[in-house]
Amino acid sequence: MQLQPTASHFINGAYVEDTAGAPIEIIYPATGEVIGTVHAATPAIVDQALESAKVGQKVWAAMTGRERGRIMSRAAAMIMERNHELSVLETYDTGKPYQETIAVDATSGADALEYFGGLAGSLTGEHIPLGEDWVYTVREPLGVCVGIGAWNYPTQIACWKGAPALACGNAMVFKPSETTPMCALKVAEILHEAGVPAGVYNVIQGMGEVGAALVNDTRVDKVSLTGSVSTGKKVYAAAASHMKHVTMELGGKSPLIIFDDADVENAVGGAILGNFYSSGQVCSNGTRVFVQKGIKEKFLARLAERLDTAVIGDPLDEATSFGPMVSKRQMDIVLGYMAKGQEEGARLVYGGKRLERDGFYLEPTVFADVTDDMTIAREEIFGPVMSVLDFDTEEEVIARANDTEYGLSAGVFTSDLSRGHRVIGQLEAGSCFINSYNDAPVEAPFGGVKNSGVGRENSKEAINHYSQVKSVYVRMGDVEAPY
Ligand code: NDP
Repeated sequence: MQLQPTASHFINGAYVEDTAGAPIEIIYPATGEVIGTVHAATPAIVDQALESAKVGQKVWAAMTGRERGRIMSRAAAMIMERNHELSVLETYDTGKPYQETIAVDATSGADALEYFGGLAGSLTGEHIPLGEDWVYTVREPLGVCVGIGAWNYPTQIACWKGAPALACGNAMVFKPSETTPMCALKVAEILHEAGVPAGVYNVIQGMGEVGAALVNDTRVDKVSLTGSVSTGKKVYAAAASHMKHVTMELGGKSPLIIFDDADVENAVGGAILGNFYSSGQVCSNGTRVFVQKGIKEKFLARLAERLDTAVIGDPLDEATSFGPMVSKRQMDIVLGYMAKGQEEGARLVYGGKRLERDGFYLEPTVFADVTDDMTIAREEIFGPVMSVLDFDTEEEVIARANDTEYGLSAGVFTSDLSRGHRVIGQLEAGSCFINSYNDAPVEAPFGGVKNSGVGRENSKEAINHYSQVKSVYVRMGDVEAPY
């Protein structure tokens, strides 16, 4: 099986190759086979991408918001028409089951392009009357934005960063994770087919050094990263030294709190979605599942019954609902945590092993009797490992849920809506859920507090992170100077 992309990079409206860059093998996670190779961007490619973005941005920003929006809406429609093809590609890039990719990946990318395309014509300023004088404000683009992606949602991340950037009149240079280089190239191709001018959306490949070269370049005005906290700190520091704007979407160790009065089926469903979707490779996952003691055994029993019905197998088979890890490296990291959980005395109640088959498959895994100090309850695992922790009181669980460096998401299951609001109001997290988990509609802001990040993606909030306000004072009378 070969899925060689047309070329490694997409710059100035066309595919570009430079084989002088280090080769990066594209590995299909379901088999471990090499299905293609791309080359990391050389300094010449980085330069070419930034130069074309500089020029393209001026052309794009000179168009009206409505013209930009119409092109973005066209791109959204094209993505939906090609959803099958793009979903198969996403599955090859990440190993996630087609059952997921057909529903979530290209579709959420299209949602972002459609939503921000719709807003593009309404990005107006204010008029501030000051007696006879007045101030007007103009919402201006930032210039050249850099997007750096993680490997778990390559199409979605390319669109979630690209759509608000483009709506505001910026250009983008996007660097996907080296683990999943293919999907963003397709996004660039479709945007250009839809009418986005050359240079406005560029994709270049590479590892961390290429990301760092982009972040440190003075032609770049903003950096938006989806990645780990440690990378986030490096990128934020580099951006700060040039006073660049940033959005940081980083990791999490989010609490999912299930009270005795919760509907057990819904709570189990939320916990499954928040721990095992995409084989657990989701930043907002609720991986610390606090279950009140009265419901614990019922919850664990029903969870095991429902996990028994997961269909683990070929991700391209529509019946498969649980696929492999993205890479051998990530699988090994997660196996390390599975071993650590047992060593530290957590009770393994489900899974816990690698599957004996080709590819990077792990069993969905549940540990019960987890305590707050265990490594599996403190560190982000980024794999299909759920930690179930017991609790007695509301006050206790709120304090324990907040005892983490992270603050991306939080969820509460209860039939008492007043309690749901009261508890969520005290949790330190950016994206929260009551009787649900992990919904991420483009209309709602998404992002974290504490070490989980700065800024917000999606919704009208994202416009503030991809534009800046110029205020213009207009004096109608004479200028009175003291001398
Ligand atoms: P990493 O932080 O390792 O990498 C993220 C991206 O940054 C990659 O494209 C990487 O390149 C690049 N990069 C690495 N070092 C630098 C640097 N010094 N300067 C600029 N760019 C750099 O994360 P992963 O790709 O391993 O993704 C998993 C992590 O991402 C998890 O911790 C998860 O929590 C987080 N994540 C957060 C999300 C959110 O929205 N909050 C969503 C998804 C994931 P390369 O890897 O190619 O070398």
